[in-house]
Amino acid sequence: MRTYQEWQALRDTISLPFDAYINGAFTPAQSGETFACINPSDESLLANVASCDEADVNLATAAAKDAFKRGVWSDMAPGKRKRILQKWADLLEENQDELALIDTLDMGKSISEMVNIDVPDSIDCLRWSAECIDKLYGEIAPTHSSNLALISREPLGVVAIITPWNYPLMMVMWKIAPALAAGNSIILKPSEKSPLSALRIAQLATQAGVPDGVFNVLPGFGHTAGKALALHHDIGTLAFTGSSRVAGMLMQYAGQSNMKRVWLEAGGKSPCLVFEDCKDIKAAAKGAAAAIFTNQGEVCIACSRLYIQNTIKDEFMAALLEAAKVYVPGDPLDPATKMGPMVDKAQLDTVTRFIESALNDGAHLALGGVRDYQAGQGYYAQPTIFTDANHEMEFVREEIFGPVLAVMTFDTEEEAIALANDSKYGLGAALWTNDLSRAHRVSRQLESGMVWVNTWGDGDTTVPFGGVKASGNGRDKSWHALEKYTEIKNTWISLK
Ligand code: NAD
Repeated sequence: MRTYQEWQALRDTISLPFDAYINGAFTPAQSGETFACINPSDESLLANVASCDEADVNLATAAAKDAFKRGVWSDMAPGKRKRILQKWADLLEENQDELALIDTLDMGKSISEMVNIDVPDSIDCLRWSAECIDKLYGEIAPTHSSNLALISREPLGVVAIITPWNYPLMMVMWKIAPALAAGNSIILKPSEKSPLSALRIAQLATQAGVPDGVFNVLPGFGHTAGKALALHHDIGTLAFTGSSRVAGMLMQYAGQSNMKRVWLEAGGKSPCLVFEDCKDIKAAAKGAAAAIFTNQGEVCIACSRLYIQNTIKDEFMAALLEAAKVYVPGDPLDPATKMGPMVDKAQLDTVTRFIESALNDGAHLALGGVRDYQAGQGYYAQPTIFTDANHEMEFVREEIFGPVLAVMTFDTEEEAIALANDSKYGLGAALWTNDLSRAHRVSRQLESGMVWVNTWGDGDTTVPFGGVKASGNGRDKSWHALEKYTEIKNTWISLK
C-alpha cells in the first residue's frame, strides 16, 4: 500500500477521463454540455464531464444494437469472450492503483477500502463471470421420444445498466461482468456523482479486445440520460442499482415503453439484532459500528437500525461508543482514514436534515450530531448515534444513507423479529447470538434477502447479493446474476 504522500503525488499526475465512451472511442456529448465533477474531500474541480442526454442515448444504442446484430461479441465463442475478459481483468489489475485513486477522488471513499475491497472484488467478479461463461450448458428436456426439445440460453441484446455512486467501480462491475460475459451489448450510465472509473475501464476494455460498440458509457443525469435509456424501445433489459424511489420510476418507464425487463437492486434500512446470549459483546459492538460507519454509512446494507436486548443494553452501549471511536472523518487519501466525506453537499444536507428530525422527534443524541459545514473544506459528517428511538420517528423508517444510527431495545425474540421486519425494505439483516437454534430460527423469519450471523457485510462473488420488498427483485453476483442476462429459448424438433 502506498503512503499518504505517495497517493498525493499520484493524484497530482493522474489524467482523468471526461468524455462519454461510445463505439470504442471517447466522444463529447452531442449537445456539448458538461457537468462539474467535484472532489468531496476539498470541493476542488476534478473534471468537466460530458452531460449525455437522449441524443447520446440514441447514438450509443444504435452502436450497441449494430454490434449485437453483427455478432462481433454475441456470436463469439464463449471461450474467446472469456479470454478477452480475462485480459481486461489483467489490465484492471495493472492499473489498480489508478482505479482506486479515481474512485477515492470522485466520491470520497477511503483509499484503503478501495485498495483492499472495491478494486480486488471488482476484478474477482470479472474473472469469475468470464470463467463461468464457457461452462454454461444448455439442456435437453425429457419429452416424448418423437420430439427433441432443446433449452438453450441466449444473450438478450442491448442491456442498459444504471448504477449509483457509493461503490462506483464495484456496483458497475457486479452488473457489466455477467452481462458482457453472456454476450450482450451494454450501455452503462454511471451515477453523475461518480462517473470517472467507469469511463477509464471502458477504455481498458477496448484495449483488451472488447469490440467497438459492445461496451458504451454515458455519463449524465438520471432525468436525462437515465430516463431516455429506460424509455428506449431498442433496449430489452435494464439493470439498476440505486434508490427504491427511482427503481419504482423505472418500472413505470418500462411499462410506458416496450415492457423491457427491469432488474432492481434498491435501497435498505437494515436491522441488527443483538441478543443477550451474544458470546463476545466487544466483537458484536465492533461489528455494529462497522455496519453503520463503513463508507460513511453510504452502504445499501448499512445496519442503521440497532436493536439490543434490554438486559445487556448498558454494557453494549458502552462497547459501541468505544468501537465508534476509530471512525474519525479525515482525508480519504490517507490510508489511515476509516471515514471520508459525504459524496456531495446534497448528501450532507440530507444527513443533517435527518439528524435534526431525530432531535425534534425526541431521540437522545449519544454521539456526534450536526457538524458545522465550512465551505471549501469538504462535505464531512460526524458518526452519529441516537438512543431512545422508535418506529414513529422518520429517521428510523427512512433510508438516510449516512453515518446515523438509531438504537432501540427489545425484551423477547418475537419482539425483535417483529421490529426488524417492520420496514418497507428487506435488503440485509444481522444478528448476534451464541444460540445455534436461535440463529437459524431468527434468520428464517427475517424478511430480508441476506442475513449475517455474528458478522456483517461478508460477501463473495460466488454468493448472490440482493433484497426483497422495496429493496428490489434481482440478484448481483454468482450464477444467479448470469441468469439475469440470458434468455431461455426452447426449440422443438420433430423426430417423426
Ligand atoms: P439514485 O436512485 O438517486 O440514483 C441511482 C442511479 O439512477 C443514478 O445513476 C441516477 O442518475 C439514476 N437516476 C436517477 N433518476 C433517474 C430517472 N428518473 N431515470 C433513470 N435513471 C435515474 O441512487 P443513488 O443516490 O445514486 O444511490 C444510493 C441508493 O442506492 C441507496 O438507496 C442505496 O441503498 C442504493 N444501493 C443499493 C444497492 C443494492 O445492491 N441493493 C447497492 C448500492 C446502493
